[in-house]
Amino acid sequence: MQSLKELYKTGKGPSSSHTIAPARACQLFVDTYGAYPFYEAELFGSLSLTGKGHHTDGIIEETLPGKTTVKFSLDWDEDFPNGFYLSAFNAQHELQHKWTVFSIGGGSVRIKELPDLNWNDEVYKESSWKEIYEKCKKEGISLQEYCYQYEPDLKDFLNEIVNAEVRAVQAGITTEGMLPGKLKLKRSAKELYEQTIMMDGGERDRLRMMAYSYAACEENAAGHVVVTGPTLGSCGILASMVYYFLIDRRVPTDRIVDSLAVAGVFGNLIKTNASISGAVGGCQAEVGAATSMAAAAIAFLHGQSMEQIEYAAEIGLEHNLGLTCDPVMGYVMIPCIERNAMAILRASDAALLSQHMSLIKEHLISFDMVVHTMNETGQMIPIELKETSEGGLAKEFLNVYQID
Ligand code: SF4
Repeated sequence: MQSLKELYKTGKGPSSSHTIAPARACQLFVDTYGAYPFYEAELFGSLSLTGKGHHTDGIIEETLPGKTTVKFSLDWDEDFPNGFYLSAFNAQHELQHKWTVFSIGGGSVRIKELPDLNWNDEVYKESSWKEIYEKCKKEGISLQEYCYQYEPDLKDFLNEIVNAEVRAVQAGITTEGMLPGKLKLKRSAKELYEQTIMMDGGERDRLRMMAYSYAACEENAAGHVVVTGPTLGSCGILASMVYYFLIDRRVPTDRIVDSLAVAGVFGNLIKTNASISGAVGGCQAEVGAATSMAAAAIAFLHGQSMEQIEYAAEIGLEHNLGLTCDPVMGYVMIPCIERNAMAILRASDAALLSQHMSLIKEHLISFDMVVHTMNETGQMIPIELKETSEGGLAKEFLNVYQID
């Protein structure tokens, strides 16, 4: 498995596959070959179909130093569904360099011409829950110690991630106005948060967690900097978890850092054995993965055992199996923002259930099984429901509303 630094990334929204990944590839292209006067990016798959709503053209133009033409095309016969050709031209418009870039989810990229790109280096030897669990038991180490063994500098990195999550939520709960784009959606996090001030008890906490999730998602939809968790479309879930436990529950930062390491183990397993890309596996790969990660983190923060943490992660993913991706008009807003708010509560419920059900009986479905199932299910989801905005709510919305 890859480094957790490849799972958690900060970057501009609204979509890790559609903004962070293209920006990273374009920056590497410039760092590798230097600046050229003309560039062309030809987008395919979900990048082409929802690239406008996801601001892919804008982020590519911002990142490349020359005059850039962005084309939206459909006839792509590469071996991965989501990608683009990136070309540099000299002053005479002669082709100088060309890459084939695959956006593989969560802001990660694969470049056909650079098969040894070190971003994709395998850092962890184990690639299944079973292997990780056996190693931890044999060596008597916790899940977070397992991560720090492979990545000794991870704590500092995750500390920065915690800070970035806090900044995103704080910005979201203090900002009013409209989100960009044709949907003309009003930001809601601030008002939602303000409604919690006069409340108390569990209801306040639940609404607050949802407000925090809205906050990060609205920052993402506005194209501001947020953290992949494991993607930008699903960024509200872990952001809410971090902010709620750090600020409302006053859990020490070190514990929050450890909880992100624990969550990262499960996110990394999903990324390695299935996908964290909505264009590949539907929303189960994004919000499903994030729910699973947050469930593991919350179970950890509640002091649950390694077995219970695995159960929480399994519940979080299992009950998102088959979840489709149908962003209305290609914007990461409907159903995404509300879905993140629901998912942080589902993650919390999963952790509660794991704690109590594990006292009653052993669970039969393992985390490895549900990841395997998610991968197969993702292959069966039709392309219209995998971040193309050609089916589901995206289609229904345009049947009902007339938008120019
Ligand atoms: S529906 Fe889910 S996978 Fe699709 S863009 Fe929204 S959050 Fe991402």
